[in-house]
Amino acid sequence: MLKRTPIIVANWKMHKTGAEAQEFLTQIQGKIPSSVKVFIAPPFTALSVMKPQGVVLGGQNMHEADEGAFTGEISARMLKAAGAQFVLLGHSERRRLFHETDHLIHQKLQKAISSQLLPVLCIGETLEERQAKKTVDVLSNQLKSALSGISPAEIVLAYEPVWAIGTGQTATPQIAQEVHQFCRSFLKKLWGEEIAAKTSILYGGSVTPETAPALAKQPDIDGALVGGASLDAAKFIQIIQGFI
Ligand code: PEP
Repeated sequence: MLKRTPIIVANWKMHKTGAEAQEFLTQIQGKIPSSVKVFIAPPFTALSVMKPQGVVLGGQNMHEADEGAFTGEISARMLKAAGAQFVLLGHSERRRLFHETDHLIHQKLQKAISSQLLPVLCIGETLEERQAKKTVDVLSNQLKSALSGISPAEIVLAYEPVWAIGTGQTATPQIAQEVHQFCRSFLKKLWGEEIAAKTSILYGGSVTPETAPALAKQPDIDGALVGGASLDAAKFIQIIQGFI
């Protein structure tokens, strides 16, 4: 079976100044195993001043247009010029708090791909949807809307059940594996076996040093997207070590 290199993504949300971000890099320096890829999505102000060694930087969001009168927004070209190599798209906080629709996420995804920024596409169901046994329908719709009409491309998928983000409630490894397997079969139907086998599918939702090792053992879990626990260098390193 093809071995996918684990990817651990830190999503810092609205935390850390440039100086604090740089200090974090100093704390993790020399502690990242070569068998794992580490991505950090800091706030934009920190992105532009960080000097990463052995980690890949990215944006937490991006506008779908090249440029224009969009107060408070940031373009793919600006992100790249600031050192970003990837961008988070469709995070549930963007969907819920900033009213991002599936169609908008599709447009952003297209722009990221054409700009050679690796999209990390986040999908996930709410607690009500899971309880109503709608998880597969919700994820199918999110994947269809985001990816339909797009030629097979390198992307990273992140399954982030909304009920697990920032709640301290992690999906069990079995629940996460089931969903990841479904996502890979969706990709296989849409883009073919080769791309489906190559695509990294990350789990996100209250991942901690304690929960990481069991998630890492699942065959279709290729890494983690970490919010809260990624703000602490020691915890973040422990999570990374859980995926060796
Ligand atoms: C996230 O923001 O994508 C996330 C998974 O957050 P947390 O780890 O805090 O649940």
